[in-house]
Amino acid sequence: MVLSGMSDMGQLEDNTSYMKEFVPLNGEEMAVIKNVIDSINSSISIACTGCGYCVEGCPKDIPIPRYFALYNQFKIFGGGSNSRGYYQNYAGAHGKAEDCISCHKCERICPQHLSIAEGMKDVAAVFDIEQES
Ligand code: SF4
Ligand code: SF4
Repeated sequence: MVLSGMSDMGQLEDNTSYMKEFVPLNGEEMAVIKNVIDSINSSISIACTGCGYCVEGCPKDIPIPRYFALYNQFKIFGGGSNSRGYYQNYAGAHGKAEDCISCHKCERICPQHLSIAEGMKDVAAVFDIEQES
């Protein structure tokens, strides 16, 4: 067996010694953690994992996961996150979100079954349309 970062029994015992006093979380602590998880999940607008499978076939060369990440960032932190600036950099070298033609090619390979074309409309509303108005 290979244990990363441990080369002898002394190190193994040292690294696992804290488990002797192991106490499971109580109900109150579990509830706090659940609240934090729920809060994080509810703040993520588009549940893209960033796998990138969708990108290659896009006829408009839209960097889909990057735009979704910037959109989520904008929704959580607002304009202070500089997501708009990053978006403009990507949009200068690739297709914009508003260039999406809703061909749905990307959606056929998305493991998360996301409505990417609809998501692009949301991204465009924040980064393209607001910018133009
Ligand atoms: S639906 Fe939009 S983002 Fe998806 S492949 Fe077609 S043009 Fe690209
Ligand atoms: S395939 Fe789906 S989950 Fe993966 S990067 Fe594209 S939109 Fe995100």
